[in-house]
Amino acid sequence: MRRLDVAAEGGYARARRRLAEELSKSGVRDPRVLDAMVSVPRHLLLPEAMRDRSYAADAALPIGEGQTISAPVVVATMTQALALKGGETVLEIGTGSGYQTAVLAALAGQVVSIERIPRLAARARSALDKMGVLNAIVHLGDGSAGRPADAPFDAILVTAGAPSVPRPLLDQLAVGGYLVGPFGSRESQSLLRFCRKEDGSFVREVIGRCKFVDLIGEWGWAA
Ligand code: SAM
Repeated sequence: MRRLDVAAEGGYARARRRLAEELSKSGVRDPRVLDAMVSVPRHLLLPEAMRDRSYAADAALPIGEGQTISAPVVVATMTQALALKGGETVLEIGTGSGYQTAVLAALAGQVVSIERIPRLAARARSALDKMGVLNAIVHLGDGSAGRPADAPFDAILVTAGAPSVPRPLLDQLAVGGYLVGPFGSRESQSLLRFCRKEDGSFVREVIGRCKFVDLIGEWGWAA
């Protein structure tokens, strides 16, 4: 039994290395991000029946409660856009499975993640514990208003789609930091990046187009 598990883990490790090669061809160039994608065992965050699709670059998969684990290419692209150097405190809105949380934890000093669905928050906490991720904390609640008590954050990642960028999240971003997330209609969003300048203004860039599940809450969509 144990030998079988070791063989399976070896197969998953090879699949992650292939995934990193594919991601680098699709524009993910930051070597730290590629290393993180190689190190995080995404298959452990999926139901067994779906594990054979764990390392398909564009596979967003159902995780229950009507939610999805983001596709590796989306996770890597959004993570790269945060330009993390190590040591930062990152706020993540929408923990979901905990996969993106684990990738951020591999690159930053501390991750504060917020999930509104109790079952997903509990499952992600337990999965992150089992994976030995010690520098991420999962809070239950409406993340659309951020977490003023822990602000400012060096980087903020929103992993659910909102009509526009929630003002409280911009307010909680440190000077020089990036906020990345999907904003637009429920059917399709622009993946945007905001950088906070010293004078309090923001530089806004469009990274691409995407389709995320809804950010539901005070500064998102109504439930
Ligand atoms: N990044 C996650 C992963 O890797 O598994 C996937 C996130 S999933 C696309 C979006 C998540 O945002 C869902 O789990 C959903 O419940 C959560 N969500 C939606 N609105 C929220 C809110 N206001 N506060 C916190 N979480 C929210």
